Amino acid sequence: MINGDIMRLLIMGPPGVGKGTMAVHIKNVYNIPHLSTGEAYREAIKLMTPVGKIAKGILNRGELVPDEITINLVNEKFDNKEYQSGFLLDGFPRTLFQAQALDQLLDNREWKIDLILNLVAEDSVLIERISGRRLCKKCGEPYHIINKKPQIMNICDICGGELFQRPDDNSKTISHRLEVYRKQTQPLIDFYNQRGLIRNINGAGTIEETFAEVEKALGELNDNNKKQ
Ligand code: AMP
Repeated sequence: MINGDIMRLLIMGPPGVGKGTMAVHIKNVYNIPHLSTGEAYREAIKLMTPVGKIAKGILNRGELVPDEITINLVNEKFDNKEYQSGFLLDGFPRTLFQAQALDQLLDNREWKIDLILNLVAEDSVLIERISGRRLCKKCGEPYHIINKKPQIMNICDICGGELFQRPDDNSKTISHRLEVYRKQTQPLIDFYNQRGLIRNINGAGTIEETFAEVEKALGELNDNNKKQ
């Protein structure tokens, strides 16, 4: 939230571009809660919920969970108190059908997306990032074995939880996920570009460099909102 204004943001970009890392920074600095569908699925799998049981094999293969299940999941999340005063939606929408459904979910609540942060980086950067990525089992904080090492090996700096590697972060699944992204999700950039919502951010630099670009984009959005 900037100066008490409600911010509804999307963060888009290929797997490994740093969406989760930016989401943590945005949450810390602007107090905008992170709503990640991938994270929601990983939690459902851990808890072995009915949705988790369906999603497990799909995530491990790097494929997409059926649209209807994902749309329902987001619809339910949107009703949570936590997201009533804004959110940063990450990992959704991933297909044109989901994007159209999102329009409906937002309309039903008289909400609209203020800005889409589209993180961009070359495949070689993505592959290096994904293969070195580690996450905290307890709080989900992202790490990297070279770029963002924890102070104590395999232990989260924030909560002391154990770090793990996502089962879909292996070389075979990574290339499939990148292919799924190019085919199914990248066309959404055009869909939203036509609405003037996209802000491209260079995701190939350091965390600080990328976050500086994000801050600039959010600052400009805030200035524009004040002028209106
Ligand atoms: P992420 O954490 O965003 O990389 O998502 C991890 C996995 O969760 C994806 O590879 C999909 O299997 C599943 N997933 C997350 N979001 C969606 C979505 N919007 N539609 C379908 N599947 C999704």
